[in-house]
Amino acid sequence: MNYRCVWCGSDQPGRTFVAWERLFGMEGAFEYAECAQCGSLQILQPPEDLKRYYPPEYDAYNALPDTYYSGWLGTVRRWRDRTVATGRGGLGRLVLLVHPQQDPRVRSIRLLNLTPQSRVLDVGCGSGLLLLIMYEVGFRHVEGIDPYYPSDRPIGGKVPVHRCTLAEYLAQHPEPYDVLMYHHVLEHVPNPEEELSLAKGLLKPGGRVLVRVPLAGSYHWKHYGVDWFQLDAPRHLSIPTVQGMRTLAERCGYVVEHVGFDALPLHLHASELYRKGIPGSQHRPEMHSPAQWKQFARLTDRLNRSGEADSGVFILRGGSVRG
Ligand SMILES: [Zn+2]
Repeated sequence: MNYRCVWCGSDQPGRTFVAWERLFGMEGAFEYAECAQCGSLQILQPPEDLKRYYPPEYDAYNALPDTYYSGWLGTVRRWRDRTVATGRGGLGRLVLLVHPQQDPRVRSIRLLNLTPQSRVLDVGCGSGLLLLIMYEVGFRHVEGIDPYYPSDRPIGGKVPVHRCTLAEYLAQHPEPYDVLMYHHVLEHVPNPEEELSLAKGLLKPGGRVLVRVPLAGSYHWKHYGVDWFQLDAPRHLSIPTVQGMRTLAERCGYVVEHVGFDALPLHLHASELYRKGIPGSQHRPEMHSPAQWKQFARLTDRLNRSGEADSGVFILRGGSVRG
């Protein structure tokens, strides 16, 4: 077996296992290896027709966010999201008491302490809701890039999107950015090292990269194994551990400034149902009782605090000299 861990670079595979497509109940069995060095997971042979596993129902692209801020509900959402993303706004604080913002993408923006002038590029922005939220709460210099962005229009008619790959975009010599963001994207790319290395070419000196990824080595992976919701074979080509992510970031010349955890109770809910053989279950909250959901929320909270949760948020500082 010609193996090299895409995260830590080790050529020592540990155990291998077979995983199935679970989200849509499609056919196919996919062999993965767990790195003997860092514990990260990766598919051994990606399917040649990988695009087939991103049907039109795939979440990242299926709803353009144009109506998110319309009507009175939109106004309330805008107050709330401004407070979550910037830490400012009394009205938003009141809204949060009764209507919490559950989206960890929005919560992660606060970690960046952006200014209204910050230039931000969301790499693999999908249909772009997060960018519309950022624009509406005051960050006007945000842009997206996604070769599969499903429209010719800017996001919400406002936020520009480049429909190309990062390498193609770099060739256009765009103005550099303060922050590049990868929200659950690196696990889908064949070569995360190449991606993070290209990202450096788009950053201002000392600019930062925000990476959110699923995490192997987590309670969820250990407890559910191939029934783990975020294994998501075969779309997730590789999934790092915290150690794997750190090693790759440092090898690419970044300094890891922040490591946090932002799993959702949904991950336990969906993994429980995958274990029972029920596909596509994440959109069926009624399949667990309110008491069970409370249990998922308590456990998730504990795992996020202890660092055993299955979703990580990393902030990497670029601009250092490679050594
Ligand atoms: Zn490894």
